[in-house]
Amino acid sequence: MMALDLTIHQAPTKKEKPDYDNLSFGKHFTDHMFVMDYSTEKGWYDARITPYEPLLMDPSSLVFHYGQSVFEGLKAYNSGEEVLLFRPEKNFHRLNKSNERMNIPKINVRFMVDALKQLIHIDRDWIPTQEGQSLYIRPFIIATEPALSVKPSAQYKLMIILSPVGAYYSNSDQMKPVKIYVEDEYVRSVKGGVGFTKTSGNYAASLKAQTKATELGYDQVLWLDALEKKYVEEVGSMNIFFKINGKIITPALNGSILDGITRDSVIELLRYWGYTVDQRRISIDEVYNAQKDGTLEEVFGTGTAAVISPVGILKWKDEELVVNNNETGKLSLDLYQTIAGIQTGSKIDKLGWTVPL
Ligand code: PMP
Repeated sequence: MMALDLTIHQAPTKKEKPDYDNLSFGKHFTDHMFVMDYSTEKGWYDARITPYEPLLMDPSSLVFHYGQSVFEGLKAYNSGEEVLLFRPEKNFHRLNKSNERMNIPKINVRFMVDALKQLIHIDRDWIPTQEGQSLYIRPFIIATEPALSVKPSAQYKLMIILSPVGAYYSNSDQMKPVKIYVEDEYVRSVKGGVGFTKTSGNYAASLKAQTKATELGYDQVLWLDALEKKYVEEVGSMNIFFKINGKIITPALNGSILDGITRDSVIELLRYWGYTVDQRRISIDEVYNAQKDGTLEEVFGTGTAAVISPVGILKWKDEELVVNNNETGKLSLDLYQTIAGIQTGSKIDKLGWTVPL
């Protein structure tokens, strides 16, 4: 590991580990965290690894009022022999895209990947070892200048916290198809807006629709475009793919959807397998008609949490459209097993995606 301009303050005592047989998502945090500050005068400075602890913040900090904040989500996997990260530089590049749009100063991607490795190395005894489990990594940046005027903050804090998380599927052969509610009242994002960024407000704005979908018995929301409510965008925290008559289609990146790293990996892998992947606009009517004429073969979401999440039911207006008999399709299963296998080191990483610690 290269020597970094990074101070390390070891935690004086170690916390008790949670019950690794019953890990709930994002509830337990490791002994340390990474912190780095920014000021207009100094740029990013004082990169440090410190004991995990609460923050002391001025109530006037800009983030509390005008929401200038961005975040990322990725995982580290214990392969048995080594710890693997999955395309971590992509997450920090995406953080910079979010930074750019949200008027937050950019970070150095190489430095961040190395600092992350250092942090995980210090807390490596927290990385779960059971199949499907992983260490969830949450980098985020908040505007910390104490001020109440609406303006870009002159001070920021970048932090990385780590959380051991359980397996998404209890058995990789039994991926459970999800029920998706096609949202036709609320919208997530508009062109020219911030939909392509991971900024907190996008998630705050999605909660009402998610609550409605949950109350109606659905797992997640499928968003349509804001202008015509006609074209498919993405699911709550996943991008979406359709297999129609042997062809793979996913909505093109148009500025209002997130450039998912799993999405990108699925496209690369499908191409490697010889498929053509169409990135284009796809209307909900096209999906509806394909289901009616029997050509809608598979629908699946892609994201860091589940990798691949087969869609079994799409609720659109008054109808429940059943996909592939509400069963996991072959393509979904193959993609899941290959990508999850590469992430955890059990499958050969022919595409060069993993980065050892
Ligand atoms: N869309 C949204 C809105 C998300 O929050 C996520 C999760 N980061 C995704 C898509 C999937 O992105 P990724 O594959 O990088 O996890």
